Amino acid sequence: MTHDLIIIGAGPAGLTAALYAGRSRLNTLMIEKMAPGGRILMSESIENYPGFPGGVTTVELIDRMEKQVRELGVKFESDEVLDLDCLKKTVITSSATFAAKALIIASGAHPRKLNIPGEKEFTGRGVSYCATCDAPFYKGKNVVLVGGGDAVAEEAIYLSRFASSVSVIHRRQDLRASAILQEKMQQDKKINFILSSLVTEIKGTKKVEAIKIKDLLTGKEDDFCCDGVFIYIGYEPETVFLKGKIQMDEAGFIIADDSMSTSVEGVFACGDCRKKSLYQVINACGDGAVAADSAYKFIANRSN
Ligand code: NAP
Repeated sequence: MTHDLIIIGAGPAGLTAALYAGRSRLNTLMIEKMAPGGRILMSESIENYPGFPGGVTTVELIDRMEKQVRELGVKFESDEVLDLDCLKKTVITSSATFAAKALIIASGAHPRKLNIPGEKEFTGRGVSYCATCDAPFYKGKNVVLVGGGDAVAEEAIYLSRFASSVSVIHRRQDLRASAILQEKMQQDKKINFILSSLVTEIKGTKKVEAIKIKDLLTGKEDDFCCDGVFIYIGYEPETVFLKGKIQMDEAGFIIADDSMSTSVEGVFACGDCRKKSLYQVINACGDGAVAADSAYKFIANRSN
């Protein structure tokens, strides 16, 4: 069966694209390998989405978006996209091949790894990329977080509700997290900072027991005891399945213009998998709305 539109990825960008496509009465299929939500669900709540003073939990926001889309009759397929033909607009998953008149890629991004000794070995045994998922395991324990952006700030504040001490380790002297989050961290007595420092190794026997930290100003390396290491050093686009099929930058972010059009006609990209200057839920949703509008116009022109 040929759909009008296939949307790959059901995070905020994909769900908003589906909302607009559904309202345009496009016969739309969403394909998502996990539950709807994407990486936003790695945070407990979001405070900068308009209309929610005091913030909203990410689970509630995504539930509402999904409900709105399902009410419009958009179909959901839970499967992983393994390959696609951008010219023929066919999408191959682990169980079927789907065809459409247009495609929207909203495949998002996954956490970047430090790639240091011990990281892989202790993932799930003290190393985590998701405080929302794992924070309760660290009640009364000492945790470290690595990174200097919004994600590390939000998650340090969240983890301080559980852990007895929260150390943020950042490679520079200044964090890049937004001012309001930095203020909140400074006010939290459990949070301390280890700046101009790199984590060079994660150590333990059965689970994490310590990390090795290198002071970049003195060059000195020391062990630091901790029970958990949360890594927030940015994200990499989920675009491996598109390699060689569409124009991307050297890091794998899809190049799309203001109409979300990619280098292939009828294939649109939106959200965190797209190269842009700001990666927020609000503009992921904006991207999704534009992508759906562009897909609608592309399909309409094709039928005329
Ligand atoms: P980010 O803003 O890209 O920050 C990544 C941090 O990790 C930077 O401080 C960077 O250091 C550091 N880093 C990168 N590679 C490293 C390495 N190999 N070793 C040590 N440190 C390393 O990433 P993010 O905080 O995950 O956020 C990603 C995007 O999502 C951002 O656009 C952010 O604004 C957005 N976001 C928004 C919210 C919100 O508004 N509520 C929440 C979470 C995330 P340098 O500073 O030295 O480059």
